[in-house]
Amino acid sequence: MKKQLDQLTAYTPGLSPESLKKQYDIKGELHKLASNENVYGPSPKVKTAIQSHLDELYYYPESGSPKLREAISQQLNVDASRILFGAGLDEVILMISRAVLSPGDKIITSESTFGQYYHNAIVESADVIQVPLKDGGFDLDGILQQIDNKTSLIWLCNPNNPTGTYFSHDELFNFLKRVPSDIPVLIDEAYVEFVTADDFPDTLKLQEDFDNAFLLRTFSKAYGLAGLRVGYVIASEDAIEKWNIIRPPFNVTRISEYAAIAALEDQEYLKEVTQKNSFERDRFYQIPQSQYFLPSQANFVFVKISRSQALYDALLNVGCITRLFPNGVRITIGLPEQNDKMIEVLKHFEY
Ligand code: PMP
Repeated sequence: MKKQLDQLTAYTPGLSPESLKKQYDIKGELHKLASNENVYGPSPKVKTAIQSHLDELYYYPESGSPKLREAISQQLNVDASRILFGAGLDEVILMISRAVLSPGDKIITSESTFGQYYHNAIVESADVIQVPLKDGGFDLDGILQQIDNKTSLIWLCNPNNPTGTYFSHDELFNFLKRVPSDIPVLIDEAYVEFVTADDFPDTLKLQEDFDNAFLLRTFSKAYGLAGLRVGYVIASEDAIEKWNIIRPPFNVTRISEYAAIAALEDQEYLKEVTQKNSFERDRFYQIPQSQYFLPSQANFVFVKISRSQALYDALLNVGCITRLFPNGVRITIGLPEQNDKMIEVLKHFEY
């Protein structure tokens, strides 16, 4: 076994509603608001697309998801040869780490960000620099200061999970200008569709100027397909060619490919979902206690509080499963009536 596996544990998903009900003796319904899934579900057109391909299950998928690649290429106006798919972004992060990192290489990212950048780097025996957050968000200057000749990858998450905070177009532009052009900067925009801030980066545009700026997106969040596992990276043709060597031949399933195409085509539905999310998100920030919340551009709110276990328990008592962190609680924004309950708790909690 690789020695470094001793430093890691397997991913532990949040407890299921059934086991939490037993553990806490909770009566009534429990709402799963711990993983930032889309509470409205995917476009109804996804179901129709899946049904019309059920007779093809015995065939392997088309390797490399060419139909979905073409659909994204058209939608985002990027060359299809610059797109690579994974079974969720989790697999994309794994493939990139596996392809790029050798023992002793260094990755730089932030503390309090998505854990898979760290996890996969350690598996490849790379060193991980986690730059402390600044004002609750990514400290891009702090990251620049850590760059040296061992740096092989920089991971950014925008908006960041779990804080929900973001950095602007100008901040990203100024950052990319100062990163040596041979160091890939991976920008994970898993939650981009939920963003309403006008100054959020147009990362596709920045990619025209910076060959080392690579963009990651997923169908798991706003498109509501977390259960089907589809994510992708847009990078230089050279990088994609190499990373594609690592990709397991049939990693995105046939059904997932058709479902993602149907979801992508229904932009009207996506707009409805993201508008509802932004309306509901605003309701959280309208209460005075929002002084304890980090500002979010995503479909979740991070309550920064040392009494995090007490808040987690209080939310669970009204039937809402959230995600507990040592320094806070991350709440996935739910359906209106779920948010009513959580907002009541947040209003009366002793911070
Ligand atoms: N990146 C970020 C920032 C995430 O929050 C997640 C999911 N929690 C992922 C990547 C992985 O997403 P998926 O594998 O479902 O595409």
